[in-house]
Amino acid sequence: MLGIDLQGKRAFVAGVADDGGFGFAIAKALAGAGATVCVGTWPPAMGIFETLLRRGKLDASLTFEDGTKFAFEKVYALDAEYDTLDLAPDELRESKRYRDRGDFSIQGVADQLREEFGEGGVDVVVHSLANGPEVKNPLLETSRAGYLAALGASAYSFTSLVQRLSPVMKPGGAFLNLTYLASERVVPGYGGGMSSAKAALESDTRVLAFEAGRKWGHRVNSISAGPYASRAASAIGFIGHIIEYYKDNTPIPEPLEAREVGNAAAFLLSPLASGITGVTLHVDKGYHAMAVPADIEGILRRD
Ligand code: NAD
Repeated sequence: MLGIDLQGKRAFVAGVADDGGFGFAIAKALAGAGATVCVGTWPPAMGIFETLLRRGKLDASLTFEDGTKFAFEKVYALDAEYDTLDLAPDELRESKRYRDRGDFSIQGVADQLREEFGEGGVDVVVHSLANGPEVKNPLLETSRAGYLAALGASAYSFTSLVQRLSPVMKPGGAFLNLTYLASERVVPGYGGGMSSAKAALESDTRVLAFEAGRKWGHRVNSISAGPYASRAASAIGFIGHIIEYYKDNTPIPEPLEAREVGNAAAFLLSPLASGITGVTLHVDKGYHAMAVPADIEGILRRD
């Protein structure tokens, strides 16, 4: 039987701080396919995440349908806004949530992975994080600082991950990031330069697929996910309405489950997808294919 087999592979999933988002679902799918999974967690969210794990509050989510449970091999502190520790402001480094976390920069995590698992100790890397401090502002009202912060945290962070983790990986590794349709079409309310950041992320996926493919044989792909009420999406504020809108207008009307994104990710990151790189795959119940609302007859009846 043809199946996704990631046994003997190690994955690093950046952007997991609870069990409610795509990063967790991808980590679970990868573990379900046999991979060992380490995660990178934003330091301000790490204390709560560690407590939830320690107290068993995530046990149900860490359990597969057959009753077996997986555990993260290691949780690394990662603030993807910083490529190296010296670029983080002193004030941040000395703050309560950062000061005992060691080197939380992207290079710091790469160094720790190398130290812990050796050269070639990582096979798969996932970038499942985004941040745009002015996301609630229309682009017309976005400051330069807010725009560049969105680009830095949500797009450049992926380039930096590919730069810095590639040498730690076995040749023929696989990268994946998460994007959103607002990169291609207008989604009012997804502001602050976040749509620009996702457009950059998708473009970078293609260029990095070429460059990292030629240099290390790594593949680089992106999943453009449909709306899902994760913690990050809920913070933007209108996710419930978008999910309802998708229900009324997607080819497949059932709400998107994080598990579906996890499964698509596990495929793209597996040897089964060895011929696929530089792709942005829509996992959105088909919404991207629509040009007008499904109830076009209702609209036409308005006259
Ligand atoms: P989530 O809240 O599960 O994940 C976002 C994570 O990013 C959080 O764990 C947060 O702590 C982390 N993070 C924020 N800033 C960080 C930083 N500087 N360094 C390290 N980590 C940082 O939410 P999610 O919706 O699953 O988001 C995962 C990815 O999916 C994001 O790229 C998001 O844009 C994308 N996406 C989400 C949706 C959706 O509707 N939820 C749709 C399409 C794409």
